[in-house]
Amino acid sequence: MTIIEELIDAYTSRFEEDDSLFLIKLLYFFPIDKVYTPGGSYDQYLYDLEKTVIDNFNNGNFQVAFFNAHLVFMSFVYYCVEKAINKEPFRVKDIYYSMNSYRGKDDKPDLDKYKSVYDFSKIPEKDIFKIFHALKIDDGRIRDLSRYISSRDDYAHATGKGNISIEELKANIEGIIKFMEMLSECFFEDTKNQYIDFLMKQADYGYAAICDSVLYYPFENNLSIWDIERLGKIGLQKCQDKRGYSKNDYLKLRSAHCSFIEACFENYGIDLPLNLSDLRDENYMLYRYAHNANEYVQNELVTSNDTDFSVYDCPACKDKQLVYVAEYGKFLCFECGAKFTDEELCFCERCGNIMPKGKDDDWGSNICTDCIEDMHRE
Ligand SMILES: [Zn+2]
Ligand SMILES: [Zn+2]
Repeated sequence: MTIIEELIDAYTSRFEEDDSLFLIKLLYFFPIDKVYTPGGSYDQYLYDLEKTVIDNFNNGNFQVAFFNAHLVFMSFVYYCVEKAINKEPFRVKDIYYSMNSYRGKDDKPDLDKYKSVYDFSKIPEKDIFKIFHALKIDDGRIRDLSRYISSRDDYAHATGKGNISIEELKANIEGIIKFMEMLSECFFEDTKNQYIDFLMKQADYGYAAICDSVLYYPFENNLSIWDIERLGKIGLQKCQDKRGYSKNDYLKLRSAHCSFIEACFENYGIDLPLNLSDLRDENYMLYRYAHNANEYVQNELVTSNDTDFSVYDCPACKDKQLVYVAEYGKFLCFECGAKFTDEELCFCERCGNIMPKGKDDDWGSNICTDCIEDMHRE
């Protein structure tokens, strides 16, 4: 099971036809270890809220479901407040200073020693968003968030309106998710930079090490499912320009990135980014299947239109790791990384082994050195 499947399994009755899956997406914005119950460090309060959302949805109580979804959203906001404190401590303190709790100034949680992110629920919902000015979010967006809180009040109080429709619920959840995306985006630049630093360090250890890291890196760094999917869509070319990476470092980064995202697809069940086929170029293949020409043939060539599945001795390093890839019109060596075009290699006319195309010499063009030695002995 992928991590997303396990997540769904923990919150819904997966085995029945389940229409409540769109509600699971609310959890995609939280650090994985806070919502992933098998991990043991999950947020019990949040778990109960999400359960309540789904149970009420399944019973047709859409208004109650929405109200609890709103509390999931506010929980997310409190997690973001904590992130904002860590990212911009001084600016947050400046803004926080003039804010009141529901019960006045003295009941405000202390930013240096609050016990849990839920302490921030003492601040009126409409005001808490002001903290995000510290992240330089424009006023318009912060007003949108406050306006959302006002509209939400209509559902929270006894207005005598009764239930909302399933369409209204869906539209409201979509609205919440847009806000969660907007807030997540505010912290993403840091997440991305940290990820690139990590990949550059990890890339030299090879494909297997990258795959292993997929199981701990997101947990150790408080990434959400949304973060992981978003990482799949980053533009590496821009990073190269910004950081002044050499061509070699850039190619290494690309291969490591592609390995990471593919492994996240397998382990987490995230959507694959659209540009993945561009990333899966010959440099990636050499990285992904280093020392494993046979596996490359099995996984990539047998399923393609290629017809030559042989693994040859490489003329450069002599190891049996050379494969012909019709798609590239090239031979690739999965041991030493050498690449040869059709023009550069041919088959020995005497023994059939692959060899560099000969310059015209005594024996004609296409006889390999082994055969030449052989013939001298005769
Ligand atoms: Zn080689
Ligand atoms: Zn020969």
